[in-house]
Amino acid sequence: MISFSDRLLEWFDAHGRKDLPWQQTKDTYRVWVSEIMLQQTQVQTVIPYFERFVESFPTISALAGAEMDNVLHHWSGLGYYARARNLHRAARVITMDHGGVFPTNIDDVMALPGIGQSTAGAILSLALDQRQPILDGNVKRVLTRHDAIRGWPGKTAVTKKLWELAESRTPPRRASAYTQAIMDLGATLCTRSSPACDRCPVIDDCKAFAANSVSDYPGRKPKKEKPLRHTTMLIARSHDGVYLERRPEAGIWGGLWSLPELGDRSIEGWCRDKLNTAATATESWHLLRHSFSHYDLDIQPILVRVDSPLSTVADCDTTTWYRLDDPPPGGIAAPVKKLIDQLKKSSNVTHN
Ligand code: SF4
Repeated sequence: MISFSDRLLEWFDAHGRKDLPWQQTKDTYRVWVSEIMLQQTQVQTVIPYFERFVESFPTISALAGAEMDNVLHHWSGLGYYARARNLHRAARVITMDHGGVFPTNIDDVMALPGIGQSTAGAILSLALDQRQPILDGNVKRVLTRHDAIRGWPGKTAVTKKLWELAESRTPPRRASAYTQAIMDLGATLCTRSSPACDRCPVIDDCKAFAANSVSDYPGRKPKKEKPLRHTTMLIARSHDGVYLERRPEAGIWGGLWSLPELGDRSIEGWCRDKLNTAATATESWHLLRHSFSHYDLDIQPILVRVDSPLSTVADCDTTTWYRLDDPPPGGIAAPVKKLIDQLKKSSNVTHN
């Protein structure tokens, strides 16, 4: 069987992408800009941004001399703005430390702001045909599947194995074409979901395909258990509606309207202190779980019926009696909205 790289190169010659704007040049600056833009963004989105960017900043010194605001303006809509700030900073470093010429030594390239080993390898191989391995997301997917490498690629031991493999697969000749080929294979055939294995040039020795386990690779990031917190929310209901409080600006649901949290008070104590009245009935509802990015929150809702709204609680900037058939007083936290909708369903909303 011919080598992995020869099969990829043959496939690339017949099917690879060769007409992208940054492929029409061997200018390290343009290849660098394109690689940074492509880090978190799809090719089709990048093309017009790339063209505008290099038209406005045609050289490293033009970029280094530009105002940061202007650079960010050209990035506007691409997201991940640290990329633009790093490009600008790196252009200034190149101007000061390398006489305005993009370095050709991999260590010098990796020392620039915003350029890791894979991006440095991609720039030098694509622009200068240097034999440098790369290991971006597409390449990780191809290699973990082809060689059935288990484990999450973010783990040091797995990353090390993948770099070794990437290094051993990179051919001494046509490094630029090979780099483009393996990136293209990952982007167009060996895709995250439904890879087109039947058209893949390396299917014959792809271990994941042979074991019918392609979807097991790359290994997923182990899930961290999120902490679970608890709170009790009171749905204080009177003839005048439901009692809502505006949350403080700092903290979760900042500035949104919410049902009050009981904290460590008793229901009786809360009714007395907040509403100057007593509860006539209470009813516990089912727990409601709300997920934040860093923790889950179990909410215990308790419906509390009170006789009359208080004279002491007037509608104001931070508290209100919300009548269920009125429009909401403002933004309402998502789980609170769920509870209010549940209350609406269980009530005759026309008789607040
Ligand atoms: S055979 Fe399928 S899973 Fe294996 S490298 Fe090719 S596209 Fe990826």
